[in-house]
Amino acid sequence: MAVSRTPFIAGNWKMNLDHLQAIAFVQKLAWALADAKHDFADAEVAVFPPFTDLRSVQTLVAADSLPIAYGAQDVSAHDSGAYTGEVSGAFLAHLDCAYVIIGHSERRQYHGESDADVNAKVLAAHRHGLVPVVCVGETAEDLEAHGPSAVPVAQLRAALAGVDGAKGLVVAYEPVWAIGSGQAATPEQAEQVCAALRVLIGELLGEEVAASTRILYGGSVKAANIASFLREPNVDGALVGGASLDIDEFSSIVRFKKHVGA
Ligand code: PEP
Repeated sequence: MAVSRTPFIAGNWKMNLDHLQAIAFVQKLAWALADAKHDFADAEVAVFPPFTDLRSVQTLVAADSLPIAYGAQDVSAHDSGAYTGEVSGAFLAHLDCAYVIIGHSERRQYHGESDADVNAKVLAAHRHGLVPVVCVGETAEDLEAHGPSAVPVAQLRAALAGVDGAKGLVVAYEPVWAIGSGQAATPEQAEQVCAALRVLIGELLGEEVAASTRILYGGSVKAANIASFLREPNVDGALVGGASLDIDEFSSIVRFKKHVGA
């Protein structure tokens, strides 16, 4: 991995932990990392709680000056108005969210989000100064029919239409068949797709943006396999689902450098 990209370990809580549990969790995570003397130059840490937790997380992080970033799991494509149930990027920015996950496969699958929706949300995030964590990935059927890179590359091409690369971007390659299945991709598979995604970013947004954009792998990441992914030159971190809800496991993933030679 290029030295200029700080590894990024992001925990996607999905619909888990209410705002009281979130406060306790973030506090304990910060203590665990402090006890372990985690150097945040080795890995940036972010959590993605449900919307209803964000105000509580903001208050805690600000009050205790915790070195933990946070963001939302989705954002509206619209800035305000008659969009019942949606949450504006402006509101997330006012909660000091740094990031927002966009196009997670569960949004695509259960909420019918199209590539065009994902693109509109990426543009909305940028309008409000949020860095989108754009998720792409193929299903098992896609893999069978089109090989490993075609679908993620097509999804990212659509997501980045009209995007200004200077406004910040994180990409998460998450093969759908690996999410929550316990069957992670191999590091070589992850590297192959992440490398193809970086080439595409270079084509669309320029080589400088490609070189500085962090591309994460996601799908059944655990403390036991994180180091093998981070050894790959084009994998710059992980988007972690299930394992991000266990403080010991997640902090061990964050401290992957301690076992990277294992
Ligand atoms: C995810 O949902 O983004 C994810 C990677 O989940 P898990 O780590 O549980 O596979």
